[in-house]
Amino acid sequence: MSGVLVIAEHRQGVLREATLECLGAALALAPMIGGEVTTLLLADDPSALAGEITGRTQGLKLYAHPELAAFNPELYAPVIMDAISALQPSLVLMPHSSQGMDLAPALAGRLGLPLVTDCTGLAWQDGALTVRRAVYGGKAMQELALKPADTVVATLQAGAYQAPAAGAVDTAAESTTLTELAPRHARRFLEYLAGAVEDVDIAAADILVSVGRGIGGPDNIPQAQALADALGATLSCSRPVADAGWLPKSRQVGTSGKTVRPKIYLALGISGAFQHQAGMKNSGTIIAVNSDARAPIFQVAHYGIVADLFEVLPKLAERFGG
Ligand SMILES: Cc1cc2nc3c(=O)[nH]c(=O)nc-3n(C[C@H](O)[C@H](O)[C@H](O)COP(=O)(O)OP(=O)(O)OC[C@H]3O[C@@H](n4cnc5c(N)ncnc54)[C@H](O)[C@@H]3O)c2cc1C
Repeated sequence: MSGVLVIAEHRQGVLREATLECLGAALALAPMIGGEVTTLLLADDPSALAGEITGRTQGLKLYAHPELAAFNPELYAPVIMDAISALQPSLVLMPHSSQGMDLAPALAGRLGLPLVTDCTGLAWQDGALTVRRAVYGGKAMQELALKPADTVVATLQAGAYQAPAAGAVDTAAESTTLTELAPRHARRFLEYLAGAVEDVDIAAADILVSVGRGIGGPDNIPQAQALADALGATLSCSRPVADAGWLPKSRQVGTSGKTVRPKIYLALGISGAFQHQAGMKNSGTIIAVNSDARAPIFQVAHYGIVADLFEVLPKLAERFGG
């Protein structure tokens, strides 16, 4: 047993960013485990999706069949199980997404392998996997040392790792066109239903003014709205702001909200937890205002202002409003 096997994920013909993050984790872990990173990509036309993976995995196995266009665990699992048996990886890694949450327990259950889900950190110590994961709704972090096992199945929380640079490693790709899939029993892919856009679609905005718990309360939201209006921006928020009902849930950025890539992301009073960063770190220019110089948001911000946002907000509104 050696190496890491990453299961790639795509939706509507687009590779999911979370796959690249799994590759970041896998490439960091593989030298400790021993062996290489191999990625499995199952699709109707996997070569069309392979570009972003190439150069970020040592092995790439492409499996093509028209019925693999959309995820169906009944069709995906047997192909992946065969690959696990052939490759004998020490770790099988996939995103902690609706697909990963469906697939990982099925693979672990059918192959009799240990399963650990929703990991935010992975390490290899004394021949076994140790993981870090949030518990009690993120209020506490748990560190687990797994018992040594030949192969472990794990899912990775979005945003926990960075995608590796393109060209980080050389990739040897191998394509297989499947002529027959396992017989399907109960599940069939019908259509992809996009989530309803509520009041506004923050994912479509060029400029986002995003408020976090630092905004203090609903009475202060109009100040941020005034700045957003002056900039021609849309107002978005972190999760606590949506949870408290200060802004609608449709405005939430992050792993349990929306992923956004505006040209400008202005974060006001947002600490920058990785669940938030996962939803905005690929924005064009990130500007953060936070009174705490150690806030993690400054790690991804291109420009940072360490200050009380209530001093900065009126000045910005005045500058751009007039
Ligand atoms: C499963 C799960 C999913 C999650 N999904 C998401 C998600 O989708 N999106 C998300 O955002 N979070 C999500 N979270 C929550 C996340 O872990 C953080 O708790 C959350 O992002 C923190 O929000 P915040 O930065 O607004 O608040 P805090 O972490 O409380 O930070 C407030 C910040 O404001 C600053 N501040 C306070 N007053 C001022 C002031 N006057 N001027 C300037 N700065 C000030 C403080 O220094 C602090 O950095 C999720 C958590 C879990 C467990």
